[in-house]
Amino acid sequence: MPNSAPEIRLAGFSGSPGVCIGQAYIIEKKGLDVIEKYHIQPEARSKEVNRLKKAVRKAKEELQHLIASTSTQVRDHVYILEAHMAMFKDKMLYTQAITAIEKEGLNAEWAVKKVSESVKSIFREIPDPYLRERADDITHVSELILHNLVCAEPVKISSIDKRVILVARDLSPAETLQIQLDKVKGFVTDGGGRASHASIIAKSLQIPSVLGCGDAMRLIQSDDIIIVDGINGLVIIHPSDRTLETYERLRARYEKHKASVNRNAHLPAATNDHVTIRTKANIERPEEIVQVRDYGGDGIGLFRTEFMYIEGAGFPSECELFERYREIAEFMSPNPVTFRTLDINGDKIVPGANIQPEENPALGLRGIRFCLKRQNYFMDQIKAILRASAYGDIRILFPMISSMEEVLESKKLLAEAKDALTKEGVKFNPDMPVGIMIEVPSAVILADELAREVDFFSIGTNDLIQYALAIDRGNPQVAYLYDAMHPAILRMLKMVVDVCKKHNIEVCMCGEMAGEIQNLPLVLGLGMDELSINPPFIPEIKNIIRAVSQKETRAFVEEALKLTTSEQVYDLVQERYGHLFRLENA
Ligand code: PEP
Ligand code: MG
Repeated sequence: MPNSAPEIRLAGFSGSPGVCIGQAYIIEKKGLDVIEKYHIQPEARSKEVNRLKKAVRKAKEELQHLIASTSTQVRDHVYILEAHMAMFKDKMLYTQAITAIEKEGLNAEWAVKKVSESVKSIFREIPDPYLRERADDITHVSELILHNLVCAEPVKISSIDKRVILVARDLSPAETLQIQLDKVKGFVTDGGGRASHASIIAKSLQIPSVLGCGDAMRLIQSDDIIIVDGINGLVIIHPSDRTLETYERLRARYEKHKASVNRNAHLPAATNDHVTIRTKANIERPEEIVQVRDYGGDGIGLFRTEFMYIEGAGFPSECELFERYREIAEFMSPNPVTFRTLDINGDKIVPGANIQPEENPALGLRGIRFCLKRQNYFMDQIKAILRASAYGDIRILFPMISSMEEVLESKKLLAEAKDALTKEGVKFNPDMPVGIMIEVPSAVILADELAREVDFFSIGTNDLIQYALAIDRGNPQVAYLYDAMHPAILRMLKMVVDVCKKHNIEVCMCGEMAGEIQNLPLVLGLGMDELSINPPFIPEIKNIIRAVSQKETRAFVEEALKLTTSEQVYDLVQERYGHLFRLENA
């Protein structure tokens, strides 16, 4: 049937690249468009406060349920919902809404609406774009409460049963995290910013999205055919046949680029001057090992072992741990697997660990500190890793090292574990390589000494940036300051790599910094031997490695190290290597 309505082009900005064509599915937040205002008599106000408390409780339960049911692909983003959990009881929102009911006699819905509008207007005045966008978090949290107050059904994206493109005023993290890839081709929103959670999650899901369109909800009807051009940040409504043809071609070209990147995933990541960079995977659960193979990972550079402790009932035994580690070792063999010993507390809590509440868990009894205090649990894990070393190329990695004592003590326990296994007549690799995470600034300063004690370093930039720049890595309020291109970080990385070269030990980078393509010229030029990243990012990272020369990136880093602001570093990266990151436009 020929298209009759005129074609409309709506500009927004790209939330995530790619092109999709399909039917629109409008997400209406029914019941929230008209909020009634009425007066509550003084004697009825405490009942009204209880109604608000009940709605908050229900909203928290719903969010908790969503957190528990989030798919593995987007689990990294669950912290956003956890931050929303904390906001329910925020003074600015919750306490002020109660005060508005008690003092002004406002009904609960109106109190929530009024208070959230006033908090949002404070955020919107802030010049910094990242903080300005955090006003959206207030909207998402207040909407969750309002749904329960007006008894409206919350939007259930998880129950959509046909292949569609979502169109919404805004998508909250709670909604975006429900997207199922076999049902949702892409999405378009009127609101949302470049740093919005919806955009971050869309990138993880690898579906095209255009945000900040302003007028999409007014112009698009359910079932309209639309094109989402996530490459150029454009939405086309009622596309003409000619536009459809053009976009089918663009979509095919983009898919071809992605497919070629994915096809080459299994080729070695060698720079064009023939330096091979081992590109391994970071994983947290045994199920993910299949992905490591599919995406062409050269092994597992970081196995975060917390899962069996967090999800099981209490601390697992040496045997339970060994059985799982052995399966992983055998599956990945002959490729190596680095098991990082337990890194709990901080942001990961183990039930039954009997930890005193800590004011500041990131600086508390975390990682190796916990293990050295509870040596029986630590010994069980070390022995399990040693036993698995008889079934593959296994390495052990100690997290959160901040002193020489911790390294020596951990090595002493490792030696004791070896003695015990030898006495028990159990096989293991006596030369299993031992590494430490470099993620605390004191370990950077002491790197020259620490390097004498171990076989490799693994740089955890997620924590190194947190501790070096004094920025809580999970706090969205300061996320705009969390910056891998900070000159202080680059200089620290250079110190660590130089030490490794001097002592002839391997150096790997396993923080998120290693998986972001725009950091790659810096990461390579600094001289990393190995990268360990989230499996889906491996093909694109390998592709960029193949496009650069290590010699050139080394000279480039020398220049970058002279700069004094992140912005200068960023501009230099764009000037020299920007063309590589725009490949997806080709
Ligand atoms: C890091 O800190 O960079 C790291 C890889 O460890 P985690 O993210 O598990 O703290
Ligand atoms: Mg860490």
